[in-house]
Amino acid sequence: MLNISPELLQKYDVPGPRYTSYRTADRFVEAFTEVDYIRALHDRRDGLSGRAQALSLYVHIPFCESLCYYCACNKMITKHKDRVAVYLQLLEREVELKVSHLGNSHAVSQLHLGGGTPTFLNDEELTRLMALLRSRFNLVPGGEYSIEIDPRTVTRQRLEVLHRLGFNRLSFGVQDFDPQVQKAVHRIQPAEQTFDLTLAAREMGFESVNVDLIYGLPMQTEPGFHRTIDTVNRLRPDRIALYAYAHLPERFKPQRRIHAEQLPAASAKVAMLASAMRRLMEAGYVYIGMDHFALPDDAQAVAKRQGRLHRNFQGYSTQPDCDLIALGVSSIGRVGATYSQNAKTLEEYADFLEQGRLPIVKGLALSRDDLARRAIIMALMCRAE
Ligand code: SF4
Repeated sequence: MLNISPELLQKYDVPGPRYTSYRTADRFVEAFTEVDYIRALHDRRDGLSGRAQALSLYVHIPFCESLCYYCACNKMITKHKDRVAVYLQLLEREVELKVSHLGNSHAVSQLHLGGGTPTFLNDEELTRLMALLRSRFNLVPGGEYSIEIDPRTVTRQRLEVLHRLGFNRLSFGVQDFDPQVQKAVHRIQPAEQTFDLTLAAREMGFESVNVDLIYGLPMQTEPGFHRTIDTVNRLRPDRIALYAYAHLPERFKPQRRIHAEQLPAASAKVAMLASAMRRLMEAGYVYIGMDHFALPDDAQAVAKRQGRLHRNFQGYSTQPDCDLIALGVSSIGRVGATYSQNAKTLEEYADFLEQGRLPIVKGLALSRDDLARRAIIMALMCRAE
């Protein structure tokens, strides 16, 4: 099913932007400002940007306790838990500002907490954050409410709190179960931990558990990655995301700690991907598209069969294509035919909000041509048509 000739591989073995939007975030411009974003919010509020679907919310939590060397996310490594209280205050200001332009109590059918490590927040802080969101938005029943979990930071009791707070989907960061690879990327995470939490999540009634994997990491070999895929097949998460590692040490500082000579060659990466896909599908997973797989009765696989699948910044979604209000440092939102990105450093993000301004530093207003291309790319990614 994955047939890539050496010529094709050579032609495209070059770094490219992450394809989470069209146009991609590297095309955003500083000429798009807070004023443009506010206009887009007003257009939505006043019904000028077409029939408004329920909103999607994304909240970025930038803190992590320890550094994974492959990381390309916007995060801050810290042991100082007191930073969270200040950050929550900033999020409160951002919510208030956005709601003042958008209007109160908008229906929300998707929420995603990403990072960094959202579970860096303790139970009280997560409760405070959810109370803030619920006080300003209407999280409708039947929505997708998900959170990224670093299994090293979570216990069964914490999962119970997340369930009570209304999360119905969990995404576990795993990357690879091979101890050699875990050592090489500075992320030691015993498989038992993920097995225990997955079991607990099932017992508690979480609707879906996702596992993130990465191929192309240092010390990864084909036989080693087979073993990881076989372990994942035994774990049987509802969804699997299988991402390619892009080694860009000049852009992402943590990656400088990775020894380039330990990285698998491009051909070995493709072989790993091909055999991982085959093994997952032989184990009963449905190929959703791009880098995602799901069990046949998972909502994503059902949506794919019914032609209702969408893709947004967080990956595939069963909810209709909708505006995304993004909160927190570096987060990217989408309102009407615009994208916008928040300040990338905590200091700059705080400065904007302390001046009573939205922390938008760049964005893009899409042309009709962009919108047509976006629709075509979406059809390719979601329906392979
Ligand atoms: S990979 Fe995730 S947990 Fe690791 S440093 Fe990056 S954001 Fe933090």
